[in-house]
Amino acid sequence: MLEHFGAYAFIEHDVCPLTSFTAEIVGAAVSLGRDGYKERSERLCAIFCSSTEPNAIAAWGSRDWIVISNALMFRLHKSAEALAPQVMHTVGVKDTRLGTVMQKAKSAPGFSTAMASCLYIGAVGFFAGHEVGHHLEGHDGYYLPGSVRLRDASDQDLKLEQQALEIGPDERGAIISRQILTSFLLKFYNGETLSQEDQAEYQAVIATVLSVGLFSALAVIRPRSIGMKEASEKRHPPGALRAWMLSMYLSGKIKECCSLISSPVQQQIQMVSLDIAAAESVGKGAKEAAILNRAKTSEPLGLRAAGIRRALFDPDLPHHLRTLLEIRSRLRPTLRPR
Ligand SMILES: [Zn+2]
Repeated sequence: MLEHFGAYAFIEHDVCPLTSFTAEIVGAAVSLGRDGYKERSERLCAIFCSSTEPNAIAAWGSRDWIVISNALMFRLHKSAEALAPQVMHTVGVKDTRLGTVMQKAKSAPGFSTAMASCLYIGAVGFFAGHEVGHHLEGHDGYYLPGSVRLRDASDQDLKLEQQALEIGPDERGAIISRQILTSFLLKFYNGETLSQEDQAEYQAVIATVLSVGLFSALAVIRPRSIGMKEASEKRHPPGALRAWMLSMYLSGKIKECCSLISSPVQQQIQMVSLDIAAAESVGKGAKEAAILNRAKTSEPLGLRAAGIRRALFDPDLPHHLRTLLEIRSRLRPTLRPR
């Protein structure tokens, strides 16, 4: 725990409105995770800790634990609050039916708007779902003493193995985030019958909120660097690869569930969502921030210049993914899926 959270103390789920709201989201993720357990599903539990490190981990003991720090909540809350007006006004959700309902809706305690709480659900749902994923896939088989991790392997191999084990949890995180956020968004629908055109508009708004919410989780995931440089030196897959995988999952789901949105609009929703979430994720002191600042009037251009967009099209990315997928199937027999 010290390694992941520095100084920490466990805290109650209702110490403030933000932890109470987060407990609802994490509770939903745990419940979805338990549905995937073949036996003793009550083992899967979540706990919060107070720490200055924005982090979430999966831990094994008498139970399958998910630990989430309050610093992670504050960080994601800040992103959600910063992104909400952009989604409403810059992207133009405010002019849609759903956007109008959301603007009038009462926001969750601790949030300034309903949109901010929706984006927060998308991001927290991803983190909780990701840790649930480590348990569902039985990564204790890899990480616990006596497991395969302790066999003789060069450091390089270990890093790539650990990257490979993040792929499944990222997929689970995306699935769980989508499930929780979609059911929350339904609260803004009053049951009226909609014309085809209005349905298409609903779908576009839902796809946008889902995309921005999920991508905003990228602001906190490791590694902080987004590009492919020294990709094999890290214990987490490169940021661009994680963004690309989330993007693949989203486009598949949006195609499947939002059939009324045309392909070009779908693509546009994803690129715009990724751009605004990525721009928010760049820390003030980062060299990317200076580049973005200079290109203030054209964020997509700035993102390309800062290398964030470019990283998604790096030819090393598919190669690195293939390597990780091969390692992932090699490690499968060592795992203990629930
Ligand atoms: Zn992980």
